[in-house]
Amino acid sequence: MVNVYTSNLGYPRIGKRREWKKALESHWSGKIEQAELEERIKTLRHEYLHTQVEKGVDLPPVGDFTYYDHVLDTAVMFGLIPKRFGHDGGPVSLDTYFAMARGNQKAVACEMTKWFDTNYHYIVPEWEEEMVPTLLENRPLRAFREAKRWGINAKPVILGPFTFLKLAKGFHPDQFSRLLLDTLTPLYAQVLQELEAAGADWIQLDEPAFVTDVTAAEMEWLHTAYSRLADAAPGLRLLVQTYFDSVSAYSDLIRLPVHGIGLDLVYGREENLASLQKHGFPEDKVLALGLIDGRNIWKTPLQKQLNLLEEIREIVSPAAWMLQPSCSLLHVPVDAAEEQELPSELAGVIAFAHEKLDELSILKEGFLHGQAVVAEVLQENAAAIETFDQASFRRIPEIRKEIANLTSTAFTRSHPFAERQEQQEKFYSFPLFPTTTIGSFPQSPEVRRARKKWRTGEWSEERYREFVQKETARWIGIQEEIGLDVLVHGEFERTDMVEYFSDKLTGFSFTKHGWVQSYGSRCVKPPIIHGDVAFHAPMTAEMSSYAQSLTEKKVKGMLTGPTTMIRWSFVRDDLPESEVALQIGYALRQEVDALESSGIAIIQVDEPALREGLPLKKHKWKAYLDQAVRAFRLATSSVQPQTQIHTHMCYSEFHDIIDAIQTLDADVISIESSRSHGELIHAFEEKTYPLGIGLGVYDIHSPRIPTEAEMLQTVERALRVLPPTLFWINPDCGLKTRREEEVVASLQKMVQVAQAIRQQW
Ligand code: GLN
Ligand code: ZN
Repeated sequence: MVNVYTSNLGYPRIGKRREWKKALESHWSGKIEQAELEERIKTLRHEYLHTQVEKGVDLPPVGDFTYYDHVLDTAVMFGLIPKRFGHDGGPVSLDTYFAMARGNQKAVACEMTKWFDTNYHYIVPEWEEEMVPTLLENRPLRAFREAKRWGINAKPVILGPFTFLKLAKGFHPDQFSRLLLDTLTPLYAQVLQELEAAGADWIQLDEPAFVTDVTAAEMEWLHTAYSRLADAAPGLRLLVQTYFDSVSAYSDLIRLPVHGIGLDLVYGREENLASLQKHGFPEDKVLALGLIDGRNIWKTPLQKQLNLLEEIREIVSPAAWMLQPSCSLLHVPVDAAEEQELPSELAGVIAFAHEKLDELSILKEGFLHGQAVVAEVLQENAAAIETFDQASFRRIPEIRKEIANLTSTAFTRSHPFAERQEQQEKFYSFPLFPTTTIGSFPQSPEVRRARKKWRTGEWSEERYREFVQKETARWIGIQEEIGLDVLVHGEFERTDMVEYFSDKLTGFSFTKHGWVQSYGSRCVKPPIIHGDVAFHAPMTAEMSSYAQSLTEKKVKGMLTGPTTMIRWSFVRDDLPESEVALQIGYALRQEVDALESSGIAIIQVDEPALREGLPLKKHKWKAYLDQAVRAFRLATSSVQPQTQIHTHMCYSEFHDIIDAIQTLDADVISIESSRSHGELIHAFEEKTYPLGIGLGVYDIHSPRIPTEAEMLQTVERALRVLPPTLFWINPDCGLKTRREEEVVASLQKMVQVAQAIRQQW
């Protein structure tokens, strides 16, 4: 009989009721001591592990759990602690650990960035010149021993050396092989040897970097590294785990001297299957199959996955099978049974972490003992999916027809940029280097309190609206006083830029407890796109035209773009994403029209998530960018030539997508740039940008007030490569997280900088 295990790659940290988050934040705010924090976190670890065992997971993971982030855990374990944190050897204290993650009075935090193409952020490991990495403490070993004391033989999960180094910064690319082979590999070997001595069996080494474009040289280093690791701990079974896409160098990967290989058969399904077919799979290795979507919340079509397993069984016969989610369940909420208020057709097809683990057990049953054994469950599963698919909200035929009938004019402004620019110059008569902001102003405690009162019913709709209007009016006054050229209404009515719109468009729904970790203790509750998206009624026109009525200056309307709406939601998986993007673009187009006809002459459509959503493999970029550009243009092309379309993007690495950004054909783009200025400017040295552009002149992530000199320098550098007639002056991003005093002081200086620079031109 074949050998089949179920395995899990990682479990959500936050807890059903965000207990983890609450424990951490109570400690940070001084409400609970370290000892109590440790006790509470330990209780959670115990609960999580037991839940997984009860759900029938044969190989429950340990070491995936953390006090903040698993990449930071790995860096700390190897002693990669930047000097500024003043660590002097030995295991790292919790205070130092949190200081690296969050910063403290003496030292700025380590950089944080997106984990591959997900919305999880990890802490970037920093190599410094004289750093001598050593194994300060064997974290997976500690986790393994703890589980053993609880009677569980767990599978330690470790971030693999190749991916770890790929995610780190602070070294020259030429040093990569040396750091991998001479520095990291021996440390990993030590970790593994100690685990071997403690009686561990399977070890999961996460190597998602394998799904990016790996070079032949890198592949060779990898081979050497894993050969050494396998030799160092021959008693362990090493499993190299990939996820988020198909692997680039399959035939090299399966030759690694390890016991098991993990493939993602959800996000890398077609290509990974083709590789299995073409190159086979070694008979002496275990094949770990990612069959359950670890990144989205839909139930698995179980019959389809069982058929897939049978299909694979026909082509390869590995030593054994591991059935598992496609990636760590960190990216989905904990338990869907908690969701009682969703439409019943939708509730029937939602699966969070717990439901996904149940699905695994069913797949194992069916695969081992034949589908007849699980026939009832399969039927129920198919029926729920079918009912959902037939639900009236899934398809709005008129919308589909209207979109299918769109012609290229719908995606093109009536006039090319040069002509629009001429008309806009006359219409607006802005000074050279116009000043503006990105949209939001401080969401102060008063703003948040007011929203809470309205949500809980203490305040009527009326009263809340009055409050928001008053705050808007106050900030219109502040902006006029500061002397900004283009004003914003301040976004006080929005908690979140995606939630605000999804709440008002047809096709979205919201969970009650569907939280996922974004970074550290910060969690987000992404909306669900469950059906065709449609415009229902104007969403922002009232607020924007109210703000416009208060001032002679122009007020910018503010919308969230299609790609960002998609990236920050759980998206239906029965339609190509390009279709969903068009539907959102089409709905936004109607909002743009509503704004324009209510007298708003400048409309900004934010796309902060466009850059971060780039596929992991380069050959997939074009399709993604085409889709993003089409949807954006559909949203923004209907307006008069003098109506000025703005867009905004947060992330700063743009050199490789400037062409796509240009094809958005937005009259003005603002880009976050002050954190990596040199690099962004460099991008424009090679190729200038022919539309309006504002490179953020100060970093809004810090409470620090920028000096005029540094902003001036930033602007002057930009003007060496960008045409002055198209240059705007603005901060890096929205100001909702800053305090009023900081915002006012910074913007006053920013306006003075604009005046100073005008003198020079
Ligand atoms: N308009 C939004 C704001 O100002 C943009 C936020 C973002 O770029 N993430 O908050
Ligand atoms: Zn931004």
